[in-house]
This record gives sequence, structure tokens and C-alpha cells, in this order.
Amino acid sequence: MTKNFDYYNTLLVQSVGSKTGPIAPTVVPSAAYGYADAQEAEGIFAGEVNKPLYARVGNPTNGKLEGIVAKMEGGFGAIATASGMGALAMVTTAMLKAGDEVLCIGGFFGGTYTLVNETLKRFGISNTFCEVDDFTHIEAKLKEGVKMVLMESVGNPSLRLPDIKRIADLCNTYETLLVVDNTATPLLVRPLELGADIVVHSSTKNMSGHSAALGGIAVFRAVKAEGDKLHNEKYADLHKIVNKTGEKAFIPICKKRAIRDVGMTANAFGSFLTMLGLETLSLRVERVNKSVARVAQILEENLPEGIEVNHPSLSKSEDHARYLSDFADGCGPLLTVDCGTQERAFTFLNALNMATLTANIGDNRTLALHMQSTIYSDFDDKTRKFLGVTEGLIRVSIGLEDPEEIAKDFLQAAEAL
Ligand SMILES: *Cc1c(COP(=O)(O)O)cnc(C)c1O
Repeated sequence: MTKNFDYYNTLLVQSVGSKTGPIAPTVVPSAAYGYADAQEAEGIFAGEVNKPLYARVGNPTNGKLEGIVAKMEGGFGAIATASGMGALAMVTTAMLKAGDEVLCIGGFFGGTYTLVNETLKRFGISNTFCEVDDFTHIEAKLKEGVKMVLMESVGNPSLRLPDIKRIADLCNTYETLLVVDNTATPLLVRPLELGADIVVHSSTKNMSGHSAALGGIAVFRAVKAEGDKLHNEKYADLHKIVNKTGEKAFIPICKKRAIRDVGMTANAFGSFLTMLGLETLSLRVERVNKSVARVAQILEENLPEGIEVNHPSLSKSEDHARYLSDFADGCGPLLTVDCGTQERAFTFLNALNMATLTANIGDNRTLALHMQSTIYSDFDDKTRKFLGVTEGLIRVSIGLEDPEEIAKDFLQAAEAL
């Protein structure tokens, strides 16, 4: 069961602020750290002494953020990264090698799509994409031995809602790692409780809200002493670390196989700003998710012919039943508006007064962007179709403003068409 917003309001403010000394989190900007003596240096490098080694592999400010987000997601530990893409790059490069295959479920955020389809492919890691509800295909691929399943808690911008529990059960049956990108739905969905192994976030989005800090984070479950899927033969190249480090193994796997060698580490000031955002995350998520449904409803009732709003809270949505059953508190800040053609989408966007035109989502302000001419401009028609990007599609991320005013702005812009 998802914990309620009151639970998170208490957890987040209480864990970000300290009771004594400086209340706000302390920023430790030092890149390097002195060791007390040669023996301590040896212990720190062996992972036996818990003190900072060098900022590329960890920093006390990042450490505080990691502890809070691990608790928020019901995880065992976390690693903060330079960006959301940094978190995805860390997890995939740490866990995969040439010859492995990733199963990608649903339509992806543009950067994640090109990470798997271009970058990982260049290093010999192949992929297969399948629709969120194509369980026959999903199970066949798991049986074949894919090494990792990657999915988003909510399709961006397709707004398809996956059955995370059912997919996680399948991944657990076939002992396959499941990574869920929970960027759009912090507090609303807890993938680790549903059976996922790793949760990633772009903290740039909802977690911060203020557009002041680029960041990402990956959260891990504890590794079981017996019967853990990481003990499966297909993860043989990880066994040395798993056998040595036990329940915390996901952390050294990512630190030694990605962070140390590639350096997608978070910086202290970014982590500090992310924590300032986290303090109010629960208040903001609750408000925004009520507002999204309200704006969607007003637009559904009042938009003229030829312009369509889409959101899973609307009864016409193909995922409405799953929205009611699995996303009871909402499915994030996004809705989409389809104007039919690019020309009409541009006219509509240019007539908006309130929305900021930008590539971000999950901001405190309402944002809007035409998809095909921006994030998806490099993609061919077939890929765009699979990702749910139609020619006239505008993605909207609802902010903290008065939902009645947001809807009014969209309705007046529709009059320009
Ligand atoms: C923005 C985003 C990312 C990438 O995060 P950055 O912080 O921009 O690197 C990954 N996944 C989703 C769903 C996103 O919205």
C-alpha cells in the first residue's frame, strides 16, 4: 500500500532538517578528504571505514540526500548522480556488458530511449521494446534470458500506465533485474515494494521542483543472503562483489563498475538544493496531482472540436481502470493536448500566457512543449508512433498555480486556433 501524504510530510521535513546545530543540510564542497593515518586510508579504500574517500565516489552532502531518498522509496541504500541520465547510465553500465540484452517496456523519455538504443548499442548491449501490456512478449523475452528490464512508472509523454506489480512478479519468477524510472511519480508509486530491484529518479524534476538543480538518484533493495536473483548464473560477473559485500552489494557494484570509472557523481551543492525541494515534495505532489485531474476535466468538457486532452483520470483513457486501481493518488504532473498538426500546436503554444515553454517536467510552474519538433525531432515516424508522439502533441506539466486559472489559460489559447 502506498503511504499517505501526511506520512511523507513528516518523514521529509524531519529527515532533511537537523535538530541541533545547523538546521539546513550542510554543504561539504571539498573534492578530496584527508585520512588520519595510513591504516585509516587502507580501511576507507577497503570499504571498512565509513569516511569520505574522494568526492567522485561519495560526499557527505550526497550521503544525506541518499539516506533520505532511500527511506522515502523504502530502499536499503541509494546513490546520487549528476543527472537523471547519470543514474540510468550508472545502473545500466554497472549491471550490463557486451552481449547482454535489455527489455524496454513502454515508450521512454527521449534521453533514455537514445541511451539504450544508441549508446548502449554501440557498446554491444542490444535491446527489445515492447508495449506495456504485451505480457506474452514480455514473458518470452524473460524466458530467453534478458539481463535487465527497464520501464517508466508512467509513460512520458504517452501517459500509458503499466501494471508494475505484474511485471515485477514476472521478473522475479525469471530472476531478472527490474529497473523502474519513477521520476514522474515520487510518493505515488513505490516500485521496490511492488517487487522492483532498482528505482531511478531524475531529481531535477518533481523532487526539486524549483528548476535550480540538475540531479538524479538510484535506490536499491537489500540483497538477500540466500535465493537472491543476483546469485543467478547470468549475473556471474557480479558474483565476486555480491559474495564479498552481501546485502549492500548494489552500492559497490554501481560505485566500482560505474561511478569510479565514469564519474557521473552528484555535486554537493546540487544535492543541497535537491534536499530543499524534498522538504515540500509531499505538499507539492498532493496539490499538483489534484490539479492535473481538475485541469484535465475542465479541458475535456470545454475544449473545442479538433483539440483533445489526454490524461488517465479521464474515463475515455485506455488506462482509466488502472489509474483508479493502482494510481489512486495520481500519476504525476503530466497531461497532453493534441492539436492535430504542428502548425496548430505552435499557434496554441504561442497563445498561452501562463505556461513556460521548456523541456523540463515536474516544475513548480506549469510547463508546455511541442514534442515532435523538440525532444523527438531526431526520431523517425515509426519510433515516434511507438513512443506515442503524434504530430500535434503538446506535453503539459502542471504546476502549483490555481488549476482554474491554468485551465482558463489553455481554453483562451484554444480560441486562437
Ligand atoms: C528528465 C527525465 C530523465 C532524465 O533526467 P535528467 O535529470 O534530465 O538527466 C529520465 N527519465 C525521465 C522520466 C525524465 O523525465
